[in-house]
Amino acid sequence: MVVILAYVCLMYADYVVVSWLILRHLTDNLWGAVHAVIFNICIFMAFFAHARCMLTDPGIIPRPENAKDKPSCQSEVPQPDSSDCPSTAAATLAVSPSPQPEGTDSHYAYSGIYLGAYPRPRGSLDPDTIKAMTICQRCDMYRPPRAHHCRTCQGCVRKMDHHCPWINNCVGAFNQKYFLQFLVWVSITSLYAGSIALFSWLADCPGCRSEPEATRHMALMHTVILAVESCLFGGFTLVMILDQMSAILKDETGIESLKRTGAFRPHTSRRLLLREACGPGTPLCWIFPCQSLNHQPIEETKMITTLV
Ligand SMILES: [Zn+2]
Ligand SMILES: [Zn+2]
Repeated sequence: MVVILAYVCLMYADYVVVSWLILRHLTDNLWGAVHAVIFNICIFMAFFAHARCMLTDPGIIPRPENAKDKPSCQSEVPQPDSSDCPSTAAATLAVSPSPQPEGTDSHYAYSGIYLGAYPRPRGSLDPDTIKAMTICQRCDMYRPPRAHHCRTCQGCVRKMDHHCPWINNCVGAFNQKYFLQFLVWVSITSLYAGSIALFSWLADCPGCRSEPEATRHMALMHTVILAVESCLFGGFTLVMILDQMSAILKDETGIESLKRTGAFRPHTSRRLLLREACGPGTPLCWIFPCQSLNHQPIEETKMITTLV
């Protein structure tokens, strides 16, 4: 529903800018055509980025075949935090029963940590990564460090930042770049539309005087609505861009910021963090759709899918 609202707002802005502003004020010179083309390119880029971040897998971790759907946070292991049913290995250790029951060897203990009904991870991961892995009781599986469960997407998402209703998808490790592109193009479009609306107010329009009064009123109404829309979306996307850039440069997702768990990771350079989120290439490639992010299969995911 909110996705449709985003489409309607973008198409309305295009309609007002072209039909009511450019065609009324700039038909007698080449600038009208130039502005119409550039503005439509901005709209197209916003639509394109929106489609990409909506359709790209944000980093949903595939469930192992033996996982069971659980409607709520129920488990043999009591959970200290039931907001999204996370359970760190450390928290699990704190509630581990002792001694280990007989005949349940395969269900117990990686490095002495009680893992309840969950089979232990296998693979060639280093012990620190395995220790940082958490258990999602909704998905009934291990998940890599920094993954969180999204109730709307019904899955665990790698480096989940938040679930965005405007794209009807999570913003996670694999689509954050496209989300940032969408925000940038919407803010550029808003700024452009607002500037054209301001120009139409200030510039003299000799041809408009001969128009019927109803047409002039209609033009004024569309211009005011466009100006309000531009301010709202421009301001909102600008705040979101700052929020996303801060999340990338601090290496802290929105969820980690709320839970205050981001400060414990090792320091990484800002350049590396930007490259991790936006991929290789020049910063110009980060806002234009020059290249797609090419995520290689990740060792933890491969390991999770081979759990037995
Ligand atoms: Zn989950
Ligand atoms: Zn989601």
